[in-house]
Amino acid sequence: MADKPHLLDLNLQEWSEYIIGIGHKKYRARQIFEWLHTHLELDVTRFSNIPDDIKNHILNDFYTTPAKVVKHLKSTDGTEKILFEMKDQKFVETVWLKLRNRNTVCVSSQAGCSLYCEFCMTAKGKFQGNLSTGEILEQVYIFKRLVGETVNNVVIMGMGEPLMNYDAVMKACNLLNHDFGLNIGLRRITVSTAGVLPGIKKFINNEEPYNLAISVHSLNHDVRLKIMDAEKKWPISDLVKYLIENKHNLKKNKLTIEYLMIGGLNMTSRDAKELGYLAQKLDAKINLIPLNFEFDDYKRPDEKSIDAFFQAVKHCGVQVFNRSSPGYDIQAACGMLKYQTV
Ligand code: SF4
Repeated sequence: MADKPHLLDLNLQEWSEYIIGIGHKKYRARQIFEWLHTHLELDVTRFSNIPDDIKNHILNDFYTTPAKVVKHLKSTDGTEKILFEMKDQKFVETVWLKLRNRNTVCVSSQAGCSLYCEFCMTAKGKFQGNLSTGEILEQVYIFKRLVGETVNNVVIMGMGEPLMNYDAVMKACNLLNHDFGLNIGLRRITVSTAGVLPGIKKFINNEEPYNLAISVHSLNHDVRLKIMDAEKKWPISDLVKYLIENKHNLKKNKLTIEYLMIGGLNMTSRDAKELGYLAQKLDAKINLIPLNFEFDDYKRPDEKSIDAFFQAVKHCGVQVFNRSSPGYDIQAACGMLKYQTV
């Protein structure tokens, strides 16, 4: 028997088909959708305006157990992190950040990751599979209910490679943007990728309306190969060529280049110039992130080198930000999420 869908997996159209299929009127679909996506109520028994017959059908046909909050950590800088346990003992971490007065949730798209990056703790754990749309959404919904504040921004930058779980991720983005849901603006939803070229092509060809953040980290094939196995399959030269040829399809200011600063590896003045030149060509902005999870002999660069690299990139006349990621003390910063907190 096929797995039961998660309660949050369905869009409004699919709820309508389900409700009609069990012999009820279509307007019930909207009522159920609002319980789930407006009121964030995941307990079907509390849908007070829904007849018992429908509730019993739902309880029978769907996976209705909400993700369990195993651990909820709070940083001294206001960042929070939850370790969730999901269906089939999948563990994922999710981060709540206050960035420039915006409440941002950094969401995981896979339990573990199907790719391997040297600088990332997630890569050291076991890959447990893709998350469903519902499992992606409930990270936001449960966190929002616990914190009790509005969510203004969602970044799919937690554990996993979002474009390796394309359909579930895009459906989750559409539901986050839905008028009867959290109604998060298109420009406030960002999908990140380690450079999965087939997924990037699909994203651009489908004209997905969300921001795209691409982890570049080096424009040199040999250097990138040392730190990201994505480089084996999708070399940076192919990626850059494709982006430049298709830049007219990327809406202005929708593309961000993520660049991890790793002392002694990718911070020469030539690296800075090449990076600035690429951003200029693509009308992209650049986020520079100092290394958080140190590996081999590579260390987080000192403040002086960070500033020198930042200035060298800025000199190219592009929009560049130094994003020293918050939540370091609770291992919630970029590259620090793992599948089980001990
Ligand atoms: S950085 Fe992203 S793509 Fe790379 S291993 Fe970590 S989660 Fe996966």
